[in-house]
Amino acid sequence: MGRIYLDWNATAPLLGAARDAVLDALSLPGNPSSVHAEGRAARVLGEKARREVAGLLGAEPAHVTFTGSATEAANHVLSPAYRMGKAKIAVGHLYVSAIEHPAVRNGGRFAPEQITEIPVTRQGLLDLEALADLLAAHDAASGMPLVAIMLVNNETGLIQPIRDAAAIVKKHGGLLVVDAVQAAGRIPASIADLGADFLIVSAHKLGGPKGVGALVSRGETLMPEPLIRGGGQEKGHRAGTENLAAIAGFGAAARVMSEEVESRNAAIAGLRDRAEAAMLRIAPETVIYGRGLDRVSNTSFFRLPGLKAETGQIAFDLEGVALSAGAACSSGKVGASHVLTAMGEDAAHGALRLSLGPATTEADIDRFIAVFDKIASRRKVAGQAA
Ligand code: PLP
Repeated sequence: MGRIYLDWNATAPLLGAARDAVLDALSLPGNPSSVHAEGRAARVLGEKARREVAGLLGAEPAHVTFTGSATEAANHVLSPAYRMGKAKIAVGHLYVSAIEHPAVRNGGRFAPEQITEIPVTRQGLLDLEALADLLAAHDAASGMPLVAIMLVNNETGLIQPIRDAAAIVKKHGGLLVVDAVQAAGRIPASIADLGADFLIVSAHKLGGPKGVGALVSRGETLMPEPLIRGGGQEKGHRAGTENLAAIAGFGAAARVMSEEVESRNAAIAGLRDRAEAAMLRIAPETVIYGRGLDRVSNTSFFRLPGLKAETGQIAFDLEGVALSAGAACSSGKVGASHVLTAMGEDAAHGALRLSLGPATTEADIDRFIAVFDKIASRRKVAGQAA
């Protein structure tokens, strides 16, 4: 029996259209910065991708800066030093939600004492009152406040109240960075509608290649100091010859997702909901985080009492099902989930994350349910024997 991939929040398999775009771009000889015909042809391809990524995020193409990952985009935008034309603008403090991905939670270029966490509720949603209190106490003499909040949490799939947060941030004269990595291509994520100043996105979560992301800005006047200096690529915001093949693949994936996201979502939600209903039927004690709240359609974050998430993940893997115990950690180890901890949950046993995508089938879910049943009953037998 083949393997079943149910870990789309870690990375999505490359879409056919993205693969084609990558291969086409690889066969172009020119450097997009060169003025000759070969260079111009490469540039045209990059600009097409810029329009496609901008289209997905309701942004102006001129406001898309391609980066090497969403992590790089986060390190670029989370900066104490900004520029408005030639004028330097200081950012005095960074406020990040307690459930951010490490790419944001580590605070980019801010010193640890310049970073404050915004708590979340027990349900896993940003605590808006706490945000308002923190910004009311912000020391304006130090510079502007910068706030970073994710649109969709990578573990729970919960959609965060960005518009409400944006209103609070604006009231206090701050800047809002939204990590839209898990949202782009799954729910509408228009920078203007969200009220964000910046969005960060990553190609590999939406069917593009790994190792390319973007920083998207609302305007062009106020920009962070570049993270990577050198040549004038990306209008001086990110030096270095562009990874054109990856950028072209990113564009193609963004285009496909903009066209098909709505139609695919209902089917994905149906499969996820069927998996959850079956888990609760098989083991009614299963805890499903964020159920009944506003979540993306593809994610289920659950805990089976008596089963350590790490053990569960290995058991699923041995049965041919790839899912994850919380977020994928770069070391391959499973650490305690800071998301569960922030929600006031006992993170010691962790939770498992099932995440689906457009290629997930009914048969995949049948198989997941059969394996869940096996693991849940094995756990009961082990529990009785102990
Ligand atoms: N933000 C979120 C919410 C993520 O899930 C991830 C990837 O796991 C990242 C940021 C980092 O993206 P990248 O792999 O492009 O650095």
